[in-house]
Amino acid sequence: MTGSTGLRLSAVLVLGVTLSLSLFACAREKQAAAAPGELTLATSHPTAAASSASAEAGPPPAFDSARAMQYVKEIVAFGPRPLGSANHKKVEDYIHAHLKGDLVEDDSFTIDSTEGKFPVRNIIAKYPGTRDGIVVIASHYDTNYPLRDTAYVGANDGGSSSALLLEIGNQLRGKKRDGYSVWLLWDDAEESMRLPWYDPEAVYGVRHLAQKWQDDGTIKKIKAFLLEDMIGDADLNIEHEQNSTPWLEDLIYQAAKRLGYQSHFFGRAIPMEDDHIPFVERGVPSADLIDFNYGYDNVFWHTTQDTVDKLSPKSLEIVGKVTLETVRMLDKK
Ligand SMILES: [Zn+2]
Repeated sequence: MTGSTGLRLSAVLVLGVTLSLSLFACAREKQAAAAPGELTLATSHPTAAASSASAEAGPPPAFDSARAMQYVKEIVAFGPRPLGSANHKKVEDYIHAHLKGDLVEDDSFTIDSTEGKFPVRNIIAKYPGTRDGIVVIASHYDTNYPLRDTAYVGANDGGSSSALLLEIGNQLRGKKRDGYSVWLLWDDAEESMRLPWYDPEAVYGVRHLAQKWQDDGTIKKIKAFLLEDMIGDADLNIEHEQNSTPWLEDLIYQAAKRLGYQSHFFGRAIPMEDDHIPFVERGVPSADLIDFNYGYDNVFWHTTQDTVDKLSPKSLEIVGKVTLETVRMLDKK
């Protein structure tokens, strides 16, 4: 179903009531990659989740939610950050400034779109581990080009997750990682160049990087690709995302349960088109941590209503800690 108006899913409630939903996938009005089918809105907690929880659990991961929230505010304060804008460059510099002393690699290239040519820059910070393999944690940082002349700042969409990664970097920096290497990826040009969503002119950054890492062999070393998107909503409900790798989703739920945050996870099951798809397509275990119900019926998404006042430091903390706990569990897996 490659409708340009977004995805249309048939949803079946456990009560047997059939709903028809129009879902405009996150960061995108794309349709579900999975076959349009029945969507169970019943709570879909993985059954494999609980068991091994407490035995190996150490103290909860550290995460400074106030600092993460401050980062969101600072990113948003630059204003709209579409491709090719001065603000976009300021955010690139802002991210780089927080990674001083880290092992940082830029993946820069130019796209040729119907809106013209634009520079695109993925930023990767690498924190080496003792174990052979890489866990990638990703977030896009651009805002929508078609909304460039509005007050749209993407506080939740792009802002919250980019800030989350900065704080995760703080937690990784200067510590010996007894586990896989962790690479933080601020990816670019995720948002579509056109409205409604147009697949060929979106997700440029990750598509480029996935191909590059396939060509140079890096992709074989990636044990998990964890995508963060729209994770700052004060009313946090991370989806049980159906294009994600099932065992990795199970692991995320176990991590959430260990930390007592499971009520914020997997309340509904939906498939999303997002930055994880180029890695899913290449067989990399991938998961999309996304809350695609931002305001009633997702009303704030891709509007000038996507502002900092809708967000909560607690949500950043929940997702940040669950992500770090998931990495810790991957390390031991
Ligand atoms: Zn978006």
